[in-house]
Amino acid sequence: MKQFDFNNKNILIVEDTITSSRFFDAALSRTNANLFWAEDAGEAIQIFDENNIDLVLLDINLLTTSGFDVLKYIREKDSNIPVVVQTAYILSGEEEMSFKLGANDFIAKPIKLNQLMKTVEKFLGREDTSLLKQD
Ligand SMILES: [Mg+2]
Repeated sequence: MKQFDFNNKNILIVEDTITSSRFFDAALSRTNANLFWAEDAGEAIQIFDENNIDLVLLDINLLTTSGFDVLKYIREKDSNIPVVVQTAYILSGEEEMSFKLGANDFIAKPIKLNQLMKTVEKFLGREDTSLLKQD
């Protein structure tokens, strides 16, 4: 499989299900990205405020909160940081709502590894490669 290098990129993963977290960890930990983890909206917003996050992978259905609150918060800050919504409930209008609230992309669970990596690369990959070559 193609090697991805997201060196020095900060990815915030908002996810409350351990099996999904393990999938993201297995897929992204070998890309040299810095991974930040949040299980609810409050944690996600705190981490977002305290770090220079480059990409957010956002679950919508969280234990006691909604990922939409995180998306609204980020866009209220007029942030251009890419937010990819990733959720299991594609039939409940969440895709439409995600884009309405300013999400950059939407992927439905179960997520295939290739699909995840292509999506992350779309937002982080090429720019990073060119910067590394200039050094
Ligand atoms: Mg969830």
